[in-house]
Amino acid sequence: MVMKVASPKKAASITEKVWQRVYGNYVSSNAGRSSGAGHFHSTKRCSYESDDEYEDEDGNFPLVQIGAERTKNVLILMSDTGGGHRASAEAIRDAFKIEFGDEYRIFVKDVWKEYTGWPLNDMERSYKFMVKHVQLWKVAFHSTSPRWIHSCYLAAFAAYYAKEVEAGLMEYKPDIIISVHPLMQHIPLWVLKWQGLQKKVIFVTVITDLNSCHPTWFHPGVNRCYCPSKEVAKRALDDGLEESQTRVFGLPIRPSFARAVLSKDELRKELEMDPDLPAVLLMGGGEGMGPVRKTARALGESLLDKDQGKPIGQLIIICGRNKALATTLESDEWNIPVKVRGFETQMEKWMGACDCIITKAGPGTITEALIRGLPIILNDYIPGQEKGNVPYVVDNGAGVFTRSPKETAKIVAEWFSTKTDELKRMSENALKLAQPEAVFDIVKDIHELACQRGPLANVPYMLTASFTSLI
Ligand code: UDP
Repeated sequence: MVMKVASPKKAASITEKVWQRVYGNYVSSNAGRSSGAGHFHSTKRCSYESDDEYEDEDGNFPLVQIGAERTKNVLILMSDTGGGHRASAEAIRDAFKIEFGDEYRIFVKDVWKEYTGWPLNDMERSYKFMVKHVQLWKVAFHSTSPRWIHSCYLAAFAAYYAKEVEAGLMEYKPDIIISVHPLMQHIPLWVLKWQGLQKKVIFVTVITDLNSCHPTWFHPGVNRCYCPSKEVAKRALDDGLEESQTRVFGLPIRPSFARAVLSKDELRKELEMDPDLPAVLLMGGGEGMGPVRKTARALGESLLDKDQGKPIGQLIIICGRNKALATTLESDEWNIPVKVRGFETQMEKWMGACDCIITKAGPGTITEALIRGLPIILNDYIPGQEKGNVPYVVDNGAGVFTRSPKETAKIVAEWFSTKTDELKRMSENALKLAQPEAVFDIVKDIHELACQRGPLANVPYMLTASFTSLI
């Protein structure tokens, strides 16, 4: 294993960075001390800081003695690889707020991007590149699946970026860490262990893949692993997690989907859509992936009644962060009503205003569509983690799978004309699969864990030089 040898200068600067961010106006000359680093004299005290320094049983000096009644910090670790991880993170944040008000302070962060170096800080770009070259992604996904392989390379990253990850976690002084990303279990758990905090900070994983998820999601050191489906829970157990660690509530979806009462007529008025024509929503996850343009062109043909010269449906295309796609589609000519949108923050409204959806097999989009009772045409999937989502939808009668844009367009035209019964039946099946309360069940369970743990007041966040041994 290649271990990075950090220079004392670099180590000092990282520590300084943390102190500066957390405590602002401090005596920076103290920061670089490698022994007894807990002894410091801040010129700016936190309001909840004790007047007296005290020593804990291990002989360490906590920086902050925290009042038992204080707000608990929750750090949600995510990355914008696709749109689903952020959507789930925000769902959890909003549900905490709804259920527990100010009891928890939530931080949604990509700590890797903010604190570490290559390749961890570049995951968004690498992921985008890899999923565009699906064979590359397929090889990467499957070759890193065996535990001994991913455990080794993730442990190496943890050692290499130990100080940086420590700094990133420390900034938020978390009582609870929630990972919603497959690459955010092993590294922080290693770092917590080296810090002696593994038993003090609650660490949970919320899996955001519905079926064929990557094994890096599963780590036996977590307090809970929230699985969106029984299939995923089975994989977790097969991978060595205990039953007491797993819970199956569903995939967390933003409360605006679960709790809002939305009237289709009003939404269409607000979104300036045709009030009467049935509507199909076409999208490709947060990045606007898959055969969106070809499908849009085919729908432009199939949703036009050529005899009457009138449309039988309208099309909404949400391109997400794919600006090039949005620009191209906006410059196209259409014979049916079409709206082209970029990244939308109120997906629940667009889904609520439509009658069916065409999408790649992204778990977030599928779960949201089920809550809105939208029949789903899956037109693509990312190999590996999204493959299993296809039978999940199709076998449960909530949609169909076809990669052909022409076939897709034909199905929609039939749903809007001769096969309205099929559309209705699939919509009912979708609603049967929906788990709109999942996100609330998850945050309530985390809250219970926190209560069982007692006052989370004594997480000893120390500025110890815990990684001096690595330097
Ligand atoms: N999304 C969004 N705005 C957009 C496009 C997508 O909020 O303009 C959300 C979408 O509602 C879903 C997530 O991004 O929650 C996409 O997640 P999914 O798992 O379907 O695919 P990914 O993008 O992660 O591959």
